[in-house]
Amino acid sequence: MTNDSLKRLREWFKKNAAELPWRPLDLDAPRDAYAVWISETMLQQTQVSTVKDYFIRWMKRFPDIETLAKADEAEVFKYWQGLGYYSRARNILKTAKIVALRHDSTGLTNQAQRPSNMPQTRKELEALPGIGAYTAGAILSLAYHKREAILDGNLVRIFSRLYELDFLPTDKISEKSSAIAANASCSRMTGHESAAEIYWNYAREVADSSKAYMHNEALMELGRTICKTKTPLCETCPLQKECLAFKDKRTADFPPTKKRTEKNWHGTVLVVESSDEKILAVIGGQKFLDRQLALPHFESPRGATIGLPANAEEYINADDVESVEHCGTFRHSITIHKIECDILHIKLKANANRARTSQKLTFQWIEKAKAFETFANSFSLKALKKVILPV
Ligand code: SF4
Repeated sequence: MTNDSLKRLREWFKKNAAELPWRPLDLDAPRDAYAVWISETMLQQTQVSTVKDYFIRWMKRFPDIETLAKADEAEVFKYWQGLGYYSRARNILKTAKIVALRHDSTGLTNQAQRPSNMPQTRKELEALPGIGAYTAGAILSLAYHKREAILDGNLVRIFSRLYELDFLPTDKISEKSSAIAANASCSRMTGHESAAEIYWNYAREVADSSKAYMHNEALMELGRTICKTKTPLCETCPLQKECLAFKDKRTADFPPTKKRTEKNWHGTVLVVESSDEKILAVIGGQKFLDRQLALPHFESPRGATIGLPANAEEYINADDVESVEHCGTFRHSITIHKIECDILHIKLKANANRARTSQKLTFQWIEKAKAFETFANSFSLKALKKVILPV
């Protein structure tokens, strides 16, 4: 990207940067690495407008990495509930524990003397659970002002349009396409790059500039607010002069669309209630919501379920069952899965202490009155709402 473009980008950003809870008013100020890490992780797959409130609540409860490291997974999930992709929350907790443990091993009790709260090299950051090339770049660039590249969906879209790259970073490309990219304005290209390397080279070129932290963040903001997926607002774009797709009136052609292969999944979810009004929750061993407190569920064919399905006996003993009621269906999405589930309300004759459950799985009985505050995933909550009314 030319110096002229970068200058215009900076000026645009200074005038238009949105006020965000994780962004200081002084755009040149280094950030708290912990806050950058949390906000950038929340922002993966989630809109800025949604993340704002989640971030504020999170930082009130877990203001630093040490506080977070002491929390248990169930509580962390509660603060994540609604953001989806729970593996992100689980990895955040794992990383917090690893980093906090390293702090403790310094032997320094004075917080101010301890090393900074997140590692400061890409290698160390990318070795932590849930931190990939993008998040590592964001922490190093925005928090520590290192000249490190960032490449997220916004930057991919911008680079694809600026340089008319008709492939995505995940695509396999021919030598010819690579050579064409090498003839473009980026000095880092050799003509033998993979698709991903071509995009990263453009990102690294931006990172080579002074004030790379600001250029990186400005590009993310530009992608979000101006170079939008459907209708880019090219008339107000500071990069218009450099943009090949704009010049050729081909912005709609870039980036090429990726065919998302959605998978339909039909199943049954069980709301098993003991005679003393407790609901059976399972932890792990399920198709979805691995290692979270969830309602038992399994794959089953579409159509009304009558009686106790054989699969239910993988969880409970048929002799304990008093009644089975079909309570309708619900739809839900988890990653690429489009889910439709029948809901069965199974009442047991036995109380929670006496009811027999499978030895192969880990279960927990939840007070019915506290079910809505205990389950921290919308999959289970949607099913529960069809069976018991929230209190
Ligand atoms: Fe995107 Fe239009 Fe700017 Fe090109 S000119 S980078 S297409 S907003």
